[in-house]
Amino acid sequence: MSAIPEEKIQETLANPNLQAAIYSSTGRLMSHRKQVVSAATLPDYQELRDQAQALKKQTLDNLDFYLEQFETQVNAHGGKVIWCKEGAEVAEFLARLAREKDAKLLVKVKSMTSEEIELNEHLEREGLEVVETDLGEFIVQLARCRPYHIVAPALHLTRHDVADLFTKTLGVARETVPENQCKIARAVLREKFLSADIGVSGANFLVADSGAIVTVTNEGNGRMCTTMPRIHVAVAGIEKLIPRAQDLAVFLKLLGRSATGQPLTVYTSILSGPRRKGEVDGPEEFYVVLLDNGRTRLLADREKRQSLYCIRCGACLNHCPVYRKIGGHNYPWVYSGPIGSVISPQFRGIQQDPWLPFASSLCGACAEVCPVKIDIPKLLLDLRSEVVKAKTREGQSKLERLAFRGWAWLMRHPRLFQLAGRMGSLVMRSPGKDQWLRRVPFTPNVGPLGAWTSERDLPPMPPKSFRQLWKARKGGSR
Ligand code: SF4
Repeated sequence: MSAIPEEKIQETLANPNLQAAIYSSTGRLMSHRKQVVSAATLPDYQELRDQAQALKKQTLDNLDFYLEQFETQVNAHGGKVIWCKEGAEVAEFLARLAREKDAKLLVKVKSMTSEEIELNEHLEREGLEVVETDLGEFIVQLARCRPYHIVAPALHLTRHDVADLFTKTLGVARETVPENQCKIARAVLREKFLSADIGVSGANFLVADSGAIVTVTNEGNGRMCTTMPRIHVAVAGIEKLIPRAQDLAVFLKLLGRSATGQPLTVYTSILSGPRRKGEVDGPEEFYVVLLDNGRTRLLADREKRQSLYCIRCGACLNHCPVYRKIGGHNYPWVYSGPIGSVISPQFRGIQQDPWLPFASSLCGACAEVCPVKIDIPKLLLDLRSEVVKAKTREGQSKLERLAFRGWAWLMRHPRLFQLAGRMGSLVMRSPGKDQWLRRVPFTPNVGPLGAWTSERDLPPMPPKSFRQLWKARKGGSR
C-alpha cells in the first residue's frame, strides 16, 4: 500500500521554478484550448462531446463484438493480433519476437500504454536497446524518470535542465536554445531510426471495421517509427476501439483541441497491415498487441466503465487545481491528475493507493472540459465510498464512525442542532482584524481538525446565519 508522498509534495510546493513551470505550461494549454472550443470557433463543440461519449459508450457496451471484428480485419490485411492479459506478456512477446528476428534495437513513439506496463524496463532487462523518439519522451528517458504529464512528458524541465542533461548523457556542448536542442536530439534519433529493427507505437484509436490503428502526433517520429523498421508492433489497451473510420471525424476534432489547443494535430496516420505489394514503404510485419491489464475489471462495473472512455488528451490535468500545484510525479502511477486518480485505483486495486481518490477538491473543472464527458467527480466519490467501506470492514475508522453517529443524532434533534450551530459560530468567529480564520480555535495545526487550517485560511463568518436570514425573509415561518 502506498502512502501520501507528503515530503515530496512539500518539496514540489517549495520549488518556485517547478511551480512556475507547471503553472505556466498548463495555463498555456488551457488558454489554447479555450480559444479553439469557443462557440465562435466551434459552434457544435457540445454536440461533438455528446457524440464522442455516445460512441465510446456504444463501443464499450459491445466491446466483445468490436474486438472480434477488429481482429478479423487485421488478419484480412495481413497483420496479426496478440492478446495480452498483463504487461509482462507484452514484454515476453516482444522479447521473443526480437530473438526470432535477431533484432537488437527498438525505436518507440510515445505510448502511455507501454509506460503503464514499464515496457522499456522489461525489454532492457532482456538486453535490448529501446529508444524513445518523441522529443519529450526522449528527454525523460535520458533523465530516467517517468512522464510528468500525459501529453507533455518533460513539462517539469526547463531548457537549462535539458541543456545539462544533454551534456551529461550525450556528451555534447551545453546548448540552451530549444531549436538547437531539437537538432541535437534529431541527429541522435536519425541514426536510431535508420538502424532499428522494430518500431513500437501506441494507438490513439483502433478502428474495428477496417482493422486500422490511428496515431495522432505532432512530430515526424511517429511515421518513422511505424514505417522505417521492418517490423511494426502497436501496443494498445482494448478500450481504444471505435466502430468505424468515419467516427474519427468526431474524435479527431476533439482530441487535438482538448490536448494542445490545435484544431488538428500535425500528423494523423491510419495504418492497416504490413507493406502491400508495390508500396514503397511500410513494415514487412505488422502486429497489434491488445492489452487488458485490469480493463475488463472496469468493464464489468456499469457505472465505472466510463473511465475507459478516456482519450488521454490531458485537459483534465491542465484544469485541475491539485495537479497544477503538486505536478505529475507525486501521483503514484504513470497516469496523473484527475483521470489518474480515477483509473489508478481501479487498475491497480483500491487497496494499493487508498488516498488517491481523496486527492481532489471536487471542483468539477475536469468534468467540464473532458471531451468524452467522463463524470470524474462522481467516480471519485464512488471510489471514496469504496475506500471508506473497506476501512470500516477493517475496523480502522471507529472514531470516524462514532463522529458520524453523533452528527446524525444531532441532526435528528433540531433544537440541539440549532444550539450547536450557534455555539460553533461563536467559537469560529476570529478575533483577527480581517476576520479571516487562520486556525481552528483550541486545536494545534495538526490532527483532523487542525488540518483544515494548516494549509488554508477560512474566510470571515457571514454576519448572519442561514436560519436568521431565512427567518427574516419568511417573516418567522418555518
Ligand atoms: S479524462 Fe477526459 S479530459 Fe482527462 S485525459 Fe481523459 S479524455 Fe482527457
